[in-house]
Amino acid sequence: MPKLFKTTSANMSFVQKKNLYDEYKSAVKQGFIAGPAVSFNEFISTPNFDMMVDMKCLHCGYALRVNFSGYAHFMDTEGAAFPIDVCSHCGKLQFVPLDIYNKLID
Ligand SMILES: [Zn+2]
Repeated sequence: MPKLFKTTSANMSFVQKKNLYDEYKSAVKQGFIAGPAVSFNEFISTPNFDMMVDMKCLHCGYALRVNFSGYAHFMDTEGAAFPIDVCSHCGKLQFVPLDIYNKLID
């Protein structure tokens, strides 16, 4: 479990899980996640697949709750202490967990 920031379980409905699976399949197709894609049943049995993290942009302040599983993979492969992403609002690589944001912006 990450220590520097909080994640929350989404308690998703079936439709939300299905949407998440569609996003996952498209990410595999685009090469963001290593394939081949697992089945829907395998996907929803992945530990923490429905973990969400509140993210906020250090540059523009844009905030969004996003699925954590892709970031968990990034942190594993990169040995990163927290995820950092491109902000979908301003396009800068400054999108970090809200708890990290609060530590950095005081
Ligand atoms: Zn931004």
